[in-house]
Amino acid sequence: MPPAAPPVAPTAPAAAPVRGRFAPSPTGPLHFGSLVAAFGSWLCARSAGGEWRIRVEDVDRSREVPGAAQAQLRSLAALGLDHDGPVEWQSRRGDLYAAALQKLLDAGLAFECHCSRADVAATGGIHRTCRPGARRPDPAMRLRVPDGCREVFDDAVHGHVAQDIAREVGDFVLRRADGYWAYQLAVVVDDADQGITGVVRGADLLDSTPRQLLLQRALGLPRPRYLHLPLVLDGDGRKLSKSRASLPVDDTDPLPALRMAWVALGQDPRVLPAQAALPALLDAAVRGFDPRRIPRGPLPATALHNAAATQGA
Ligand code: GLU
Repeated sequence: MPPAAPPVAPTAPAAAPVRGRFAPSPTGPLHFGSLVAAFGSWLCARSAGGEWRIRVEDVDRSREVPGAAQAQLRSLAALGLDHDGPVEWQSRRGDLYAAALQKLLDAGLAFECHCSRADVAATGGIHRTCRPGARRPDPAMRLRVPDGCREVFDDAVHGHVAQDIAREVGDFVLRRADGYWAYQLAVVVDDADQGITGVVRGADLLDSTPRQLLLQRALGLPRPRYLHLPLVLDGDGRKLSKSRASLPVDDTDPLPALRMAWVALGQDPRVLPAQAALPALLDAAVRGFDPRRIPRGPLPATALHNAAATQGA
């Protein structure tokens, strides 16, 4: 008899309405790199006749810049990237994350970890077993990742992706020692709770996706489709959001930034009318968007600038 197939996370039903989302962290103003992620996910959802949600990922209050979330929301509105439903705030959704953690604890899939940062650093940052006798007043909660645990998925841009989570990541944190919910748990709970069918975001999160698939499987949640967009790099090869050169998008003059983001998404600049007001430009973008043209990147910002400028921007 062939061995029993491993349990498979249920996939979103084929008939489910398309629903995408943009999930910015409020760590600064909307810059060009995050505009590419916002515009890319908006285009994927709108060109498929679907909904687009916004979720502010403000779980990590220590990294939050006061006023940044409101500024990002204002920028998205100025860019014409309209959203459906209310804006969700992760900081108000702790009960959902607590319930998910409890479910994992009850199933014996999560555990309290008393190891210190130094303990984990001593094993290359990869947690496999707790240091015997370790005790701390503020333990973290981790997901137990069995030896040989692998996840694979097909990304719409990057193709087949596989990760040995036990070896490359180890038992990962669900609730941090400082009490904040970890991104991995919050994002999985929220994508399922909000009925997201397609996750479109930057390629810096490609190697987080296997952890999220594992959590979906452990919690019995559906698996959305994934598309990871190219990162935009500055002249020194750094991700734009991390770079000093990442200037905020100009809310008062959104068209040049949108045209450049369109080029960053690998789209044909001739699709966008040369002289157009914002609604007409977005309309043409939704009609002419072709997700198969999205490059893997990463993309140097200077080349994009030149391409957008020479193509009638
Ligand atoms: N909050 C993350 C960021 O701003 C994005 C998370 C996601 O899209 O899953 O980079």
